Amino acid sequence: MSQKILVVDDEESIRLLYQEELEDEGYHVKTAASAEEALEIVPDFHPDLVIMDIKMPGMSGVEALIKIKEMDRNIPVILCSAYGEYKQDFSTWASDAYVVKSANLNELKKHIRTILDPETAS
Ligand SMILES: [Mg+2]
Repeated sequence: MSQKILVVDDEESIRLLYQEELEDEGYHVKTAASAEEALEIVPDFHPDLVIMDIKMPGMSGVEALIKIKEMDRNIPVILCSAYGEYKQDFSTWASDAYVVKSANLNELKKHIRTILDPETAS
């Protein structure tokens, strides 16, 4: 069974890009356009990993991260934001990784492998 990833981003182009690239890697991907939608999907979909945009209309990704961890603290969450948008040190937050958005998903994929397949990641 392929591992399940929930991609949360208010930008459709990013949702489509991540979905396509991560499906190519063999993951089962679902997308949500808002934090609110993501919180409805999580209990049914039981994602192995969530990729969460920080800046979205309505509830922020950081708020949604906290709520997801309240539902199930074992679900890893990777926070994403545009370059320069956030200067805080996210290592001190509850997120499992923090990635600056890029058209090149290599860094994101590396974090995903490290979290989901620690033995094979290099
Ligand atoms: Mg956004």
